[in-house]
Amino acid sequence: MHQVPLYINGEFTQSQSDKWLDVVNPANQEVLAQVPCATHDEVQAAITSAQEAFKTWRNVPVTERARIMMRYAALLKEHQEEIATIICHELGKTFEDAKGDVWRGIEVVEQAANAPALMMGETVENVARNIDTYSYIQPLGVCAGITPFNFPAMIPLWMFPMAIVCGNTFVLKPSEQDPLTPMRLVELFEEAGAPKGVLQVVHGAKEQVDQILTAPEVRAISFVGSCGVGSYIYSKGTENLKRVQACVGAKNHMVIMPDASREQTINNLVGASVGAAGQRCMGISVAVFVGKSKEWIDDLKAGLEKVRPGVWNDPEAAYGPQTSAQAKARILSLIESGKQQGATCLLDGSDFTVEGYENGNWVGPTLFTDVTPEMDIYKQEIFGPVLNCVCVDTLEEAITLVNNSPYGNGTSLFTASGAAARKFQHEIEVGQVGINIPIPVPLPFFSFTGWKNSFYGDQHTYGKQGVRFYTETKTITSRWFADEAVTGPNMSINLR
Ligand code: NAD
Repeated sequence: MHQVPLYINGEFTQSQSDKWLDVVNPANQEVLAQVPCATHDEVQAAITSAQEAFKTWRNVPVTERARIMMRYAALLKEHQEEIATIICHELGKTFEDAKGDVWRGIEVVEQAANAPALMMGETVENVARNIDTYSYIQPLGVCAGITPFNFPAMIPLWMFPMAIVCGNTFVLKPSEQDPLTPMRLVELFEEAGAPKGVLQVVHGAKEQVDQILTAPEVRAISFVGSCGVGSYIYSKGTENLKRVQACVGAKNHMVIMPDASREQTINNLVGASVGAAGQRCMGISVAVFVGKSKEWIDDLKAGLEKVRPGVWNDPEAAYGPQTSAQAKARILSLIESGKQQGATCLLDGSDFTVEGYENGNWVGPTLFTDVTPEMDIYKQEIFGPVLNCVCVDTLEEAITLVNNSPYGNGTSLFTASGAAARKFQHEIEVGQVGINIPIPVPLPFFSFTGWKNSFYGDQHTYGKQGVRFYTETKTITSRWFADEAVTGPNMSINLR
C-alpha cells in the first residue's frame, strides 16, 4: 500500500505516526493509499525548517523567484493530463473537469511570475525639503495553507506560489481526502528549482491544523473549506495574532429574467448546478425564476434528465461521484428533508447507480420547486447535484432574496436588459457577480472576492490582494546631507 510521504526540508520522508487514514477512490471504494496524521515533532520540524529557509529565501532576488514560477507553470502544463488523472482517481472528477482544476491553478502560477511588478512599492520625492519617502513590499516569514478536498490542484496553487514568490516560506496541510494530487504538485515544484525548505507539506486533520494555528513562527494562514471549520480557524488564528484569510461555504443563486435567452440560460443552469457533482463553492444551488421565466422549469427538468454521472474516463459522464460515503449520506438526508418540509421534488437522484460501479458514491441530478427560505435545502450548503427553484414576481424581490442569504460567494443574472444587469450588479450583496455568466470565478489578475459568511478576513486570495496578504509594507523616509564633494564649490543651493 502506498504511504503518502511528508515533505520536510526538501525531503520526502515517511511519517512515524501511528495514525493513518485511507485515501479512497469514490467511484469504487478502492483504497489507493494511506495518509498519515503527522506527529507533533514532524509538524514542528516542517515549521522550523520553513523558518530557517526564510532567512536565505527572502534575499533571493524577486526576478529569480519569478523565474522558478515560469519554469513551474511550464512543467505543470507539460504534466497537466497526468495530474488530472490523479485527481480522477482520488476524487472521481471527469477527465475534462480535472484538467480544468489543474488549469485554473496554472493561471495563478502564471500570475505569480509577475511578482516583480506586483511587488512594486510607492515613492514621493521631496515630502519635505530634500526628504524623500518610499515604500518596499517585504515578505512576512512562514505562511501556512489548509486546503479542502474539492480542488486538490487549484486551491493549493492559489496559495503557495503567491506566498513563496513574495519571499515567504510555506507549510501546506492539504485535504486528507485527496493528498496524492498536491504531492505531485510539490514534486514538480522541486523540479522547477525551488530550493530546500521553501515549501513543506504535512498531512493530517484538526490536531495538525491546531498546531499550525498556535505555532508562534507562523505569520499568516490561508484557509479554504467549510464555514464551521473556517470560522474556527479564523477565530483561533487571529486570537494567536496571525493574519487569516478564510474562503468558506456558499449558497449561490442564479436569477433568471423572462427576457433572457431561454436555451442559453437553461443549458448554463444545468451545467452550473450539477457539474463537478455540485462540489463547487461557486456552483449554483438556487435558481430564482422572475415572472414568466418560471414556465422554463419544464425545460430545466428535461435538461437535467439528460445528465448522468459516471466514471472519469466515460466521455458521456457529466460528473463523477460524491467525495465520500458520508458526503453522499448527508446529501440524501437533505433531499429527504426537502420532501418532508413540503418542497416538490421534480427529479430525485437519491437512488442512482452506475453499472459496474454499484458501490460508488453516486447521486443523480435532483430538482426541487416550491422551495422556501425556511427549508433546510434552502438554508444549508448541500454541496451535491441538487438544484432548488424559487419563483418571484420582480427583480426587486429576487435581489432581496439573494441579499437576505447569509452567504455572499457568487451569484449571476441572466437577462437581455442592460438596465436590469446594472441594477443587479449595483445592489447585490455578493462578492462575485456574473452577468449571463453562471460561475463568475475571477481570473488571477483579479482576486477571489467572496463576501459575508463566505469569507472571513479582509485581503482575499490571489491577485493584488493575495500579494498584500502575504507581505508587509515598509515605509522609509530618508535625507542625505550633502557636502562640497556633492554640491560642488560654486553651487549656491543651500541643501540644509
Ligand atoms: P472542510 O472544512 O471539511 O476541510 C477543509 C480543511 O480543513 C481540510 O484540510 C481538513 O483537514 C481541515 N479540517 C477539517 N476539520 C477541521 C477542524 N475541525 N479543525 C481544523 N481543521 C479541520 O472542507 P471540505 O469538505 O474539504 O471542502 C468543502 C467545503 O469547502 C465547502 O463548504 C465549500 O464551499 C468550501 N470551499 C470554499 C471555497 C471558497 O473559495 N469559498 C472553495 C472551495 C471549497
